[in-house]
Amino acid sequence: MRALVYHGPGQKSWDEVPNPVLIDDTDAIVKVDAATICGSDLHILKGDVPEVTDGRILGHEAVGTVTEVGSYGQCTGGGGWILGHLVDGTQAGYVRVPFADTSTYPAPAGVADEELLMLSDILPTAYEVGVLNGHVQPGDVVAVVGAGPIGLSAIMGADVAIEAVGVAATFELAAAQVRPCGHVANIGVHGQPATLHLEQVWHTDVTITTGLVDTYSTPTLLRLIGNQLDVGRFVTHHFAMNDFVGAYDTFVRAADTGALKVVVTS
Ligand SMILES: [Zn+2]
Repeated sequence: MRALVYHGPGQKSWDEVPNPVLIDDTDAIVKVDAATICGSDLHILKGDVPEVTDGRILGHEAVGTVTEVGSYGQCTGGGGWILGHLVDGTQAGYVRVPFADTSTYPAPAGVADEELLMLSDILPTAYEVGVLNGHVQPGDVVAVVGAGPIGLSAIMGADVAIEAVGVAATFELAAAQVRPCGHVANIGVHGQPATLHLEQVWHTDVTITTGLVDTYSTPTLLRLIGNQLDVGRFVTHHFAMNDFVGAYDTFVRAADTGALKVVVTS
């Protein structure tokens, strides 16, 4: 099969690689029908996520068809973000999904793959790590620093500052904007230190939260998709899978191309 492979900071290519095979009882092999590129993938390519090693297939956002499953014993290993990070990811013809019984969701009938794709990371991340961690309440004024795909997802929900970029300047801007007793909810993936100006905020009763998505909100969001949540509008560009490098080129130049989310289909 072919896959989008990371070869160190700034280096990636569309390579011929072996198909994945079942390793653990809790694995599933999934044929990737549609995948997308995340801001996290760009952070990896910037060298912000040093655990990602040369040869890793990138990607953690996809919709696909289960083609093989392990015998599904009790899951005892670690969870969290591993696809396209610590193990090979979804920007490929096929992907091995560890802990598949808890890390995959059945696709509801009648919802397009590209809408479901928006629930593979950006919507639950924005909702859980932005809106819920930020304790956004009706009537609140919310400042979203970085209105990319995740920042815009958080708005669908605005005395809360949501950081959705992942660089020092935007975190410091979010912390400077929040009112006394407000919340700063950090969503961004940070590869460098950021300064918390405690000398300016120590007396202001501000709460700062940060985290990685758990996807506990995914069942709720799946029920809302198609009626209250119009998530298809995040999709700005479409590519065939053999033009994954072109999809990256469009996504990384978002300021020029207007890209929010690119959908890559097999
Ligand atoms: Zn992502």
